[in-house]
Amino acid sequence: MAETLKAKYDAVVVGTGPGGATVAREMTKTGKKVLMLDWGSNSPIKGSNAQALGYIGMPYKSLYLINSGLGLVRAITVGGSSVVYYATAWEPPFDFWDKYGIDLRGEAAEIKKDVPIGPLKDELIGPSAKMIAKSALDLGYKWQKLNKFVYQDKCRATCDKCDLGCPYHAKWSSRMFVEDATSKGAELLDLAHVTKVIVENKKATGVEFCRHGKKYIANADTVVVAAGGIGSPIILENSGIPQAGANFFYDPLIAVFGTVKGLDDGYEFPMAMGQHMVDDGYLMTDMTMPWLIYDVFTAEVFRFDKLSNKSQLTIMIKAKDKLGGKISKSGWINKPFTANERGKLMHGFERAKTTSWIPTSRRNSTTCMSVTAR
Ligand SMILES: Cc1cc2nc3c(=O)[nH]c(=O)nc-3n(C[C@H](O)[C@H](O)[C@H](O)COP(=O)(O)OP(=O)(O)OC[C@H]3O[C@@H](n4cnc5c(N)ncnc54)[C@H](O)[C@@H]3O)c2cc1C
Repeated sequence: MAETLKAKYDAVVVGTGPGGATVAREMTKTGKKVLMLDWGSNSPIKGSNAQALGYIGMPYKSLYLINSGLGLVRAITVGGSSVVYYATAWEPPFDFWDKYGIDLRGEAAEIKKDVPIGPLKDELIGPSAKMIAKSALDLGYKWQKLNKFVYQDKCRATCDKCDLGCPYHAKWSSRMFVEDATSKGAELLDLAHVTKVIVENKKATGVEFCRHGKKYIANADTVVVAAGGIGSPIILENSGIPQAGANFFYDPLIAVFGTVKGLDDGYEFPMAMGQHMVDDGYLMTDMTMPWLIYDVFTAEVFRFDKLSNKSQLTIMIKAKDKLGGKISKSGWINKPFTANERGKLMHGFERAKTTSWIPTSRRNSTTCMSVTAR
């Protein structure tokens, strides 16, 4: 039997990633009584491998193997995937949304006042990113700095914490919005696994959740489900909307590694520079990674000979995939990996391994490829 929380809220917000945290913060600003629920923990971010494994390495909670053999990752922690993301900031595709009568220009302008957005200053761009950029520019590509969500005065040049969670409050994550909302009166319950939305007379009246092995119900006038691309459909399907898990995208990506003798990679901001190859349908960037994640990529393609090898220069290729597939209410994820999507990634792979990407004088070999997705 579930225990009902005594307080009645104006809104209960499920999930504290960029989606949920933004809504919760905005509603709190307007004086609403808001409860935020997140399955993840709110313990302070340490930037350690052990902590990161806890929020991105849990099979079928944060790390999924889908039917096509691709890996899919999300972060289950307060702040969601923004705790581990690469903080690359793109303008929304305004023209695309215009077709649906949605104008996001006002929101985009507003968010720019609230979060830091800009290209990294030269001192924060690491040696791998610079080496790849030089090569790309020599080859005639329009390789350029990418905008990042970063407080650059707090950012450290030789650091491997971006992917693990930034303990220096340099990389913007939606935990900052959660902290802002709680400081203005919103409540946060972490480790609260929401299982379904309660619907009475065709109106959402609250949510059911599990915390420390006990079931609870939180009632609210408004229920916001913002549990991410995997979490929201699972909750909605379990709330009686079976089609919620159909047709999603996940941006499949590969990492192409090249060995450069003497390089000590892993300690710099990932995705500092790159180019959107619009006509070819993919993005190419540098993507240095801490050894833990590098080893996962390497083991995934059985290149055990390259494990823990820090002399690796990495180029990421990320393609746009078509809507499709199904996330089941028990959390199984199925999506065909189409020949078209594979073709785009392989096109990028061939481009990346063009030996002149890596200065000949420092080249050892172009090595392996890994496939993952999110
Ligand atoms: C490795 C990586 C790198 C990325 N890099 C970039 C980048 O450079 N630039 C960029 O723009 N985007 C990037 N992204 C994507 C970006 O992080 C996501 O698009 C964004 O975080 C989505 O926000 P969201 O609020 O929709 O969901 P999420 O961030 O996924 O947040 C969902 C929240 O819901 C919680 N939750 C899930 N299920 C439940 C449940 N049942 N009950 C309660 N709580 C639940 C989770 O713990 C989480 O806090 C990256 C993602 C990953 C994984």
